[in-house]
Order: sequence, then structure tokens, then C-alpha cells
Amino acid sequence: MTIKKLPTNVIKLIAAGEVIDSFTAVVRELVENSLDAKATRIVICVYPESWSLQVADNGEGMGENDLLMAIQPHTTSKINSSDDLAKINTLGFRGEALHSIAQLADLNIISRVKDSCGWQIITHQTEVIKSYPKAIAVGTIINVTNLFGNIPLRRQLNPCFKKQLKSIQNLIFELSLCHPLVTWQLLVDARLILSISGNNNRKKILPQILKTVKYSDLEEKQIQINTPRQNHISELNLLLGMPDKISRPRADWVKIGINGRVVKCPELESAIYSSFHRTLQRDRYPLFFLHLQTSPQQIDWNRHPAKAEIYLDNIEFWQDTIKENIEEIFKLTDHNISTKFDNKRVENILKVAENKAIYNLESSSKEIVESKNKLGLINLQVIAQSRNTYIIAEHPEGIWLIEQHIAHERILYEQLKKSWEIVTINNPIILSKLSPKQVENLANLTLEIDCFGEDLWAIRSLPKMLLNRDDCSDALIEISWGGDLDTAQVAIACRSAIRNGKKLTIKEMQTIVDEWKITKNPQTCPHGRPIYLSLEESSLYRFFRRHWVLGKSHGIT
Ligand code: ADP
Ligand code: MG
Repeated sequence: MTIKKLPTNVIKLIAAGEVIDSFTAVVRELVENSLDAKATRIVICVYPESWSLQVADNGEGMGENDLLMAIQPHTTSKINSSDDLAKINTLGFRGEALHSIAQLADLNIISRVKDSCGWQIITHQTEVIKSYPKAIAVGTIINVTNLFGNIPLRRQLNPCFKKQLKSIQNLIFELSLCHPLVTWQLLVDARLILSISGNNNRKKILPQILKTVKYSDLEEKQIQINTPRQNHISELNLLLGMPDKISRPRADWVKIGINGRVVKCPELESAIYSSFHRTLQRDRYPLFFLHLQTSPQQIDWNRHPAKAEIYLDNIEFWQDTIKENIEEIFKLTDHNISTKFDNKRVENILKVAENKAIYNLESSSKEIVESKNKLGLINLQVIAQSRNTYIIAEHPEGIWLIEQHIAHERILYEQLKKSWEIVTINNPIILSKLSPKQVENLANLTLEIDCFGEDLWAIRSLPKMLLNRDDCSDALIEISWGGDLDTAQVAIACRSAIRNGKKLTIKEMQTIVDEWKITKNPQTCPHGRPIYLSLEESSLYRFFRRHWVLGKSHGIT
């Protein structure tokens, strides 16, 4: 598409309030242009001392005429008329950025489109002072020098470069997750400080951004959905740290990208936080990146002057979709587990190494199929208990240790969430020395409580789970100390769950395992502790060096 000047009516419609006031703002505009030009490699070099920077890309480039047009005001190749405003699929469309930057700095732009020769222009205060052919690969290199040279105040108002560098890095982090095909490099004074290789795999990109995150800590889900009330397929991509493996010390990494750019959308953020409710330890927060590619008509950018915060149409639909899919990811299904197991490879190696070795290979794949019951959940067969604490269960692809108390606690907690039942009791429980606040807290939990004499209170109804427990009074005192209903439910689940140290029969343990594996959040207990440890057959195989087996013995029959 060639670059044209926008009609006046369109210019009036899109009058922008954004100002280019920092290094980061310039970098943002230039890299967004590179992304709009379908670049897959973007290199950013900044020279803070001399207020200069360069952005080079391998995008579609600009021809000679376009290059001259690009720095004029309100010139763009991305829209033509006001009708196009409703269907913008690019990051830019106002045709103002290059012109604004040309007002604030000197530009040296080299660009080449396919099947044409390259061209270079040099500008000073928006005037083109030189323009000539130049040899270059297809793509664009934009050099910005003497930035804010004519507005010294703006230089003074810029935060220290350390802060700016952080915001440039953050910008690259966010854009790299939104555009997983792109490879990025950031150099400061010719020193490489950040490099992200894109391979269309967000799960591989996030560990490059956060060094403490491992590939195996993450789960990813890609979903195609019919956009509500529109003949359009949206694509939703969820990437999350599994709560039993990784979390954040601050609420700083729940990020939402929509149509190629990270935005604030508090409704979606709250849906994500609520899906992680009671899966993480206290004061820990989820690691989550979501990208939604949807029809531009779904988005209303007029929530924030800088377009950083948006309204999304059909918000409840998107909230529900996100919650349902997070729930799916948390499930213990063969599909989810298979990412951790490298069973196919193990199977092949075994088959080659030992023709006769059955080693449960046949039955193992049969069991996998069988285990896909209607929920698609994994097959876990309890075989023993260890230290009266761990349930040992066999899975077709490994051995699992499940801590009995917290697995049971998870089951009870989710039962309480589903139905909080208060039942009246014939013989009231008498408690003494309750403070007015404790009495109020118990009443808030809809328990029937009344004064029974001096410093005595009678509790005439109880949460059903506490019925017939010897430690009922202790439990009531515990929940009277405050917190909301959820806190009380966690306390009751913890108190009622089978203790560690209790001997269990295989049947009892199988019941716990069967009920636990269908809970909504089987990874962690309501306090955020991991519930199970899986020893994968592939790792056991490697550990015991089973690949050393050359003959027909060595324990394989
Ligand atoms: P907008 O992005 O809103 O269209 P800009 O002022 O940022 O406006 O850019 C003007 C035009 O210059 C763009 O529409 C695009 O055609 C062209 N352009 C800018 N940067 C690049 C680039 N890196 N590669 C190819 N074309 C570019
Ligand atoms: Mg632009």
C-alpha cells in the first residue's frame, strides 16, 4: 500500500493527544512501524549520551516516494477513509509519528522495498536536505539524532536513563510476547544488553524474558473462538506459570495483549486473579500472559487518553471463556500431562533396544487410552502408602507421590465452596470468653449464636462439615478470629482433612485420589502448597540408565 495524506475529515476524527516526550516513546513508535511492516527481526540501538537511537528492521520497506511522504503530517499507508477506522488491524494509523519525530530530531532513513533499489533521506526540522539511492537489504533503518535538541526542557524532564532503559526493555518484553515470530536485539552504546529469539512459541519466549522461569513451569493454550455477534474467529492464547511451580512476589506479571499490544483491561485481569484464587501461597501472585486477536470492532480504545486502557465488548463472554480455559489447564488430564512426559521417545528407544521387552509398553498405551474417561482425566492407581503420609500411585507414564492431608484438604475446600451448609444442632456448643468481635464474626458466617449467661455463648448451628467432630469448639474459636467466609472454609477444610500420620487402606486412598484428581485446582492446596510429585517414567528410565541394556536380561522380562 502506498502512503497518502489523509482527508481532513479523517484527520479531525483521529486527532491524537499523545506526545513524543521520551526515548521510550520514540522507540515505541518506530518498532510499532516495523511490526506493521511485518518485520521478523528488529534491532534497536540507543546512545543515551548523544540522544540518538537507531531502529533497523527487515520489514517490507518503503520506496523513494513513500519515504518522502512518510515524514509529512497525517500521511499513512494504513487507512484511507473514515470507514477504515472501524477495522484497523495495524498498531499505527494516524500518520503522525514520523512527522512528529522529524520535528524533534534529525532523521536519516534508509529503506528498500522488494525488487527495487534502496533509498536514503536525511532531514532537518522536517525538511529533506538530502535524498539519494543507497544499497541496503529489503527493510528499513531509521537513525534519530539530536533528539529534543530544539526543546532542552524536554531533555531535562526525561527520567534518568536507567529508568528509560527499563521502560524500553519492558516495551520489548511486552511486544515480543504479542508478536512471537519476531527476533529482537537491544544495544546500548553498541553493547548488546537484550536478545530475544522469536520462533512463534511464547512458551519459549517467556523464559528469555524472566530468567527464573523455566519452560517446564509453563503451560500454554491456544483457542479459536467464534467472536460473539460477529462473523469472525478470534484467537485466544493463554500462557501461564503453573501454580505449583512458579509464582511472583508482586502482582506485576498478569499481562493482557490485545491485537498485538499490551493494554490494561481490569475486567480480564480480575477474571485471571480469581481463577488463581486459593492456588498460591499468601502474598504470591500469578505469572500470566494472555493474547487475544479479535475483530477491531470488539475494542473501544476511548477508556484512557493514551489508549493504554480499553473496554472490550462482550466482556462477560471473554471473562467466562478465560476462566473456563484456565480451569482446563489446571486439570490433571493426559493431554496436560503429556507435555511433561517424553514417552514416545522412551517407547521407541525401548523397542529398538530390546525386541522382547514388554515392560508394560503395550498395556501402557492401552491404559492411556482407557484412562481417558469422560473427563479425560488421568488414570492413577493407588499401590501403597509411605510414612503414613504419602499415597503412592501408579500412572501409565510414571509414579506419583500425593500428600494425603493436602489432597484431602483440596477436596474438602472445593466441596465447601460448592455448598456451604449450615445445620441446626440439638445440643448447642457452649463457648466462653468471646470478644464482641469474635461473636460478630461467627454471626457473619450465618451461624446462630446467642448469649447463654455471663461470658458464655451458645452456638446452635454449625457448618455441616464440623458435625460430630470432637474438636468442634476449637474449630469455632479458630474461625471466630476473623477473615471472610473463604478464610473460614479454608480453616474448616484443613481441620477436617485426614491428618498426615494416619494409616489408610488402599481403598480409602483410592477414593481420595479419585476425588482429588477431579478438583478444579489439583496442583496446590488452598494455602498454595504443591500436592503431588510426579516421577516420570522417562526420567526414571534415564536415571537407571536403562538405555545401557544391550542383552536380553537386566531385569526386563
Ligand atoms: P502510521 O504508523 O500511523 O501510519 P507513521 O508516521 O508512524 O504513521 O508512519 C508513516 C508511514 O510510514 C506508515 O504508514 C508506513 O507506511 C511508513 N513506515 C514507517 N515506518 C516504516 C517501516 N519501518 N517500514 C515500512 N514502512 C514504514
Ligand atoms: Mg506509526
